[in-house]
Amino acid sequence: MTTKFRVFATCDIGESIDVLRRRGYEVEVYAKPEPPPKSLIIEKVKSGINGLITTLRDQIDADVFEAGKGTLKIIAQYAVGFDNINRADANRYKIPFTHTPDVLTEATAEFAFFIMGALARRLWPAEHLTRDHHWGYWHPYLPFLGDEVTGKTVAVIGTGRIGLAMIRKCAGFDMNLLCYDPAYQNHDFVKAVQEVKDLNFTRRLSRDRTWIKYVEFEEALADADFVTVHVPLLREGESSTPTYHLFNERTLRAMKPTAYLVNTSRGPVVDEAALARALRENWIAGAALDVYEKEPLPADSPLRDPAIEDRCRLYPHFASAARITRLSTDPNRGMAGRCAQGLIDVLEGNYGGDIRKMPYVVNKEAFPA
Ligand code: NAD
Repeated sequence: MTTKFRVFATCDIGESIDVLRRRGYEVEVYAKPEPPPKSLIIEKVKSGINGLITTLRDQIDADVFEAGKGTLKIIAQYAVGFDNINRADANRYKIPFTHTPDVLTEATAEFAFFIMGALARRLWPAEHLTRDHHWGYWHPYLPFLGDEVTGKTVAVIGTGRIGLAMIRKCAGFDMNLLCYDPAYQNHDFVKAVQEVKDLNFTRRLSRDRTWIKYVEFEEALADADFVTVHVPLLREGESSTPTYHLFNERTLRAMKPTAYLVNTSRGPVVDEAALARALRENWIAGAALDVYEKEPLPADSPLRDPAIEDRCRLYPHFASAARITRLSTDPNRGMAGRCAQGLIDVLEGNYGGDIRKMPYVVNKEAFPA
């Protein structure tokens, strides 16, 4: 490989950087752990780089594309969501951008399942009880109890890649499943899950006959013991069913007072002020969050209110943060490998140079035949 492409990465993605370098690429990595200022990204793009590796922390819009006119060929995003990239601007400048779907699906879904369980079974206050020397006795119900997830009903909002993976994990715990997705309904998948549930029951592997079905949003909210969110962030004008503040005062009030909300999708999908109020005033029983309207979570966030501490689990956008998922150089296993492969596909003109055929390119519509 002799072609010399120049790449700037806004963060270190591990050994996949070496994979690019071994192909002859000149790769500069922003070494600090925090995101580079936008002005620095623009400066690097202006210097004539061909590829830019980004994460969800970087705001990529017309300023960046303008700076890269004539030289910038690809934005390779290390994430599955891409709400930080202005798609209309990318299309106007005809710059393809890639993302890293699939390889983080299972890691994100299992994390959503684990934090749902941690919230419901009160693992955090229970560990505090032990560590803080407040564990004085064994008692049938004091000082507190949790709620089981087994046999309960969970609403899965968004049945794309991660939503379907979450369904499989919940089905493994004999949960009933209410599925909601206005744009994509996988009835074959739902039928297969029901068949497995029926087999588990008839072969006496499960005590009760449990079920799965697609329903409308309102029914999902009203009937679920747990609501888990797996939608992309879509603002007004980006979709006929936008997800910005999908969970707000009205929809939180539509949940059962005993229900729990789990959000591993994107922070702005939940109106945090409304959620903090919902927890303080017991409209719902609890919430487990991995993502926030502003990240990192500000010191003055109402979600940090000590009054709701026991019922509000807070995690640092951590759902895909597992070793293989984040760092494997194998494009079929790791975000890093898939990110590098997306970049290589575009720069080296794989798939006969046909961007529409490149699997990780998002904005294929900008490249008509
Ligand atoms: P996907 O595109 O496969 O699935 C998203 C689904 O949401 C689609 O089926 C879509 O039709 C549906 N949807 C769109 N609007 C909706 C609405 N108003 N109501 C209900 N459903 C709606 O994406 P995915 O791979 O499953 O990832 C989902 C999102 O999870 C990503 O966009 C990303 O923002 C987030 N994510 C977060 C982490 C994390 O670390 N916390 C990791 C990976 C992904």
